[in-house]
Amino acid sequence: MSHSAPFAWSPVGGPAAAAVLGVVLTRGPISRVGIARLTGLSSAAVTKAARPLIEAGYLVELPGVEHAASGVGRPASPLAVCADREFFAGVRISGDELVGVVTDLCAQIRNTARRPLGGHGVPVVEEVAALVGELLGASEEYRARTRRLGVSVSGDAEPVPEALLAGATGLDVTLENGVRALTVAEQWFGEGVGASPFALVTLGAEVGCGLVVDGRLVTGAYGVAGEIGHLPVADGGPRCRCGGRGCLAAYASREAITAACRAVTGRDVTPEAAAALARAGDEEVRAVFARAGRAVGLALAAVVNLVGPERIVVAGDEAAACDLLEHQIRETLAARAYGGASQCPLVLRPLRPEGWARGAAVVALRGLFPDGPIDGRWNGRRSSFPFFR
Ligand SMILES: [Zn+2]
Repeated sequence: MSHSAPFAWSPVGGPAAAAVLGVVLTRGPISRVGIARLTGLSSAAVTKAARPLIEAGYLVELPGVEHAASGVGRPASPLAVCADREFFAGVRISGDELVGVVTDLCAQIRNTARRPLGGHGVPVVEEVAALVGELLGASEEYRARTRRLGVSVSGDAEPVPEALLAGATGLDVTLENGVRALTVAEQWFGEGVGASPFALVTLGAEVGCGLVVDGRLVTGAYGVAGEIGHLPVADGGPRCRCGGRGCLAAYASREAITAACRAVTGRDVTPEAAAALARAGDEEVRAVFARAGRAVGLALAAVVNLVGPERIVVAGDEAAACDLLEHQIRETLAARAYGGASQCPLVLRPLRPEGWARGAAVVALRGLFPDGPIDGRWNGRRSSFPFFR
């Protein structure tokens, strides 16, 4: 099968093929022996499952590597992913903007585009289709080798039906909650590889949390698992958007921090101006950010004590001013994490709008694996493949 083959065929014909492609995607380049060790498949089964993936251009065999020490023995030919074999579109819909990306099979961003929403009277579905057209129109290859679109919707955006998006774009569409999409991206291609449990917390306009336990993204019985923004961190305290008091979001969302800074300064500051005041040393404004950082630290301690993640990533969007929160986050988490959980590594990193869109594209990529592996299930059976655990 050549690279220009039509896309009716799926590269993942069964659990073994899914396991092999999954391991090479997340751990490659890797030898067949290494794949066998990680998946529990026999070497013969790995070779058999890899063959159609190589023939279809998803995997490539790298030149053999001689045993370094002796120069003898059969050279191992590691398998690697052909990143250009298939592309994925990802779009983040927020209240006022679309952000889109094209990624390759390795989740690397290859193209980006943005589009303001509202004011045109054009339905969101049509705007998404136009954005995707712009993204894929940049290259013949994108157009020919993209069949899947992932869409994530922020809390302030109108819901959009999958079927309408599919009709407008001609692509297979998967909708996913933005924080969960980011968590999947991190689980497959970031700090979450091989970590279980794993937690991702987002700060900024929305305070959210994605959890991976036993290789599975936790959605919960009520669809609200991970709503860390409404975790109570105080008895009483400021009023939250949800109507309660003392929620994390009431201390640490961008809106809450900005409102508290307006209260202490008596000025109508923007989030950026509030952060600038804190960095310039305004003590009252610094205290607002410190209080937000302590609230985040308390919430992280609750996650760590409850779930025991191997790693936590905190991703702050552009206005989250993570630098002003980090000290109190780390100090509070260290003080309140119980026992060995205080060793849980915490990674703080910036989160750009394109990062949200990339998460949506990874959700589309997940569509290559009809029976998993994202939720660790293979034909209804729990996975024994440790790369997703
Ligand atoms: Zn709340």
